[in-house]
Amino acid sequence: MNKLGVHAFVWEKGWSQDEAARAIDRSAAVGYDFIEAAALDPSVIDADYTRRRLEQAGLGINFSLGLDFDEDISSGDPEKRARGKAKLENAVRTCRDCGGSIIGGILYSAFGKYTTQPTARGIEESAETLRAVAEMAAQSDITLVLEVVNRYETNICNTAAQGVEMAKLVGAPNVKVHLDVYHMNIEESDIASAIVDTGEHLGYFHTGDSHRGYLGSGSIDLTAVFRALVRAKYRGPITFESFSSRVVGQPLEGILGIWRNLWEDGEDLASHALMYTKAQLKAAEEAERQARERSRLPLGRG
Ligand code: MN
Repeated sequence: MNKLGVHAFVWEKGWSQDEAARAIDRSAAVGYDFIEAAALDPSVIDADYTRRRLEQAGLGINFSLGLDFDEDISSGDPEKRARGKAKLENAVRTCRDCGGSIIGGILYSAFGKYTTQPTARGIEESAETLRAVAEMAAQSDITLVLEVVNRYETNICNTAAQGVEMAKLVGAPNVKVHLDVYHMNIEESDIASAIVDTGEHLGYFHTGDSHRGYLGSGSIDLTAVFRALVRAKYRGPITFESFSSRVVGQPLEGILGIWRNLWEDGEDLASHALMYTKAQLKAAEEAERQARERSRLPLGRG
């Protein structure tokens, strides 16, 4: 069974001790296996406190982040690249100290709207930097997952196929692809085939809907998405990610364009998403068995 998680922004926009405690306790009370915390600035995370609260609540943790433009490891600028590498290494230390095992997000470029094409040299330097960070992460059993996002948030990995190419270019066993159905809905020609084709490279998955509000209340064919995850034999973590102006503050609000209030009650949103995800996964598993095991001619039964 996939471990199910919820993004911290369903609860809180920051990670002060009070915010962390509330986000952790609420995620555990709703019944999630782990929380995904934003490490846009890993230095503000109190790792000892976080780890203690997680242990008390019996909850796991993963992290996600994106690089700023002045720390863009794909920019071709050695100073920006050095700052980006330092931030990624800092995130690895934070993740290790909190007891986490996965860091996802836009680790390979800046997180924002580019106005120019990426360069081959920039992509190669990004992969080379990630290879070094991955080696450090491997010492703490941490996997880096490269999130494929829409064209307004990076100029490198916009499709699952590009994510697989990038992961192969990095070429480390602990570097995998992170897919997010919200972004796939914008960029992929066929979401289900993109998931199946990513196959064994898939290491992390974000669910959500077309408007990033209540799961199932948008226009994405989520039944097809969950069936594709089961068909791809994906057993990794699945995190529900949703943003409302009710919680998100700057800079994320501005980068992601969170202008509307899509929900008020994080607990209602998160409980519903957990029920919905479990029901969809169960239905998708039964659909797969129906197709592969239960629909055979009665031959060889005497
Ligand atoms: Mn995402």
